[in-house]
Amino acid sequence: MAVNSLLEIGSCGRLVIKIGSALLIEDGKPAHSRLGSLAQEIAELRAKGTQIIVVSSGAIALGAARLDLPKGGRASLADAQAAASVGQVALAQLWGEALSQHGIISAQMLVTLDDLEERKRYLNAAATLERLLEAGVIPVVNENDSVATEEIRFGDNDRLAARVAQAANADAVLLLSDVDGLYDRDPSGGDATLIERVEGVTPEVIAMADTSSSSGMGSGGMLAKLQAARIAERAGIALAIINGTPEKPISKAIEEGRGTVFLPVRSDNARKAWLGGRLAPEGVLSVDAGCVSALSDGASLLAAGLTEVEGEFARGALVSLHGPKGERLGQGLVEYSAAECRAIAGLKQAEQEARLGYAPRAAVVHRDHMVRG
Ligand code: GLU
Repeated sequence: MAVNSLLEIGSCGRLVIKIGSALLIEDGKPAHSRLGSLAQEIAELRAKGTQIIVVSSGAIALGAARLDLPKGGRASLADAQAAASVGQVALAQLWGEALSQHGIISAQMLVTLDDLEERKRYLNAAATLERLLEAGVIPVVNENDSVATEEIRFGDNDRLAARVAQAANADAVLLLSDVDGLYDRDPSGGDATLIERVEGVTPEVIAMADTSSSSGMGSGGMLAKLQAARIAERAGIALAIINGTPEKPISKAIEEGRGTVFLPVRSDNARKAWLGGRLAPEGVLSVDAGCVSALSDGASLLAAGLTEVEGEFARGALVSLHGPKGERLGQGLVEYSAAECRAIAGLKQAEQEARLGYAPRAAVVHRDHMVRG
């Protein structure tokens, strides 16, 4: 599904909602009523069939208040990492309680940007997200700040939300901000116009961004949001910025059509570009005729149809997929190493565990991590 407008975000299949520190923490204390209202909206969207992943900041702000650290816990990297470590416990509890009011089970997932950029770890994060969503759970994701090796920057979670959306194959990302969206110039001047649709984050669009956040605490301002929009558009995912400060912010933005929507570039090409990148495939998986027709119907590549494995590669490598006559079918990220692929080639799911010595994965190349042609 390609989401083209705010209206469609309300009915999309899979949505990532990112909420910044400034919206959740006020004077070092949790903004309980806002959290409650967001949890209610999330429950309503979920009841309509939308699968939701929350990306929530707030760990550093909460932890800094508890430890009474200067500069909101951002005086040094060690302060920020210690604050995040303390605050994350509280943050997970806040979400857990707010969502449980609606009978929803939440899960904490702490990831680093590297986890989502390195293909092997990306596959695991993607599989966990998929499994959680399938079980009806709402994953609440934050950056694993306490072990991050880079300086923790404001706005990291905007980018993280876009990467999570990519890993989860989401239809759209919603960034809740303290402003209505992208303005053509600094909105504090008074004569700025809200941009409703952006088709491509060009240098002109970037020039419109005001780099300072009006809140001074949470988000990295508009520039970080545009970087997130850029990641999303290249992954074929729509991204919208809306104002998260009013009561029931999501339904209000959707009803009023107020916010900025960044349209994705054509999804197949974007996904192909990410999956393939400039990498050359490290191996070839050949499959039988039954598997060729299953793949053309959109199925995953299962070990049962695998006939031959060429090359030496690790889990997460990009491999070429070939039919019985050597014809190229596509490419994808492989869930097993070359040796494991050889071990399970031709085996049914039930027979694989004995051969591998552990529970097999759902597929050799999952359809979400495959491009055809
Ligand atoms: N992960 C950080 C936190 O939870 C916030 C990063 C950001 O401001 O984007 O406090």
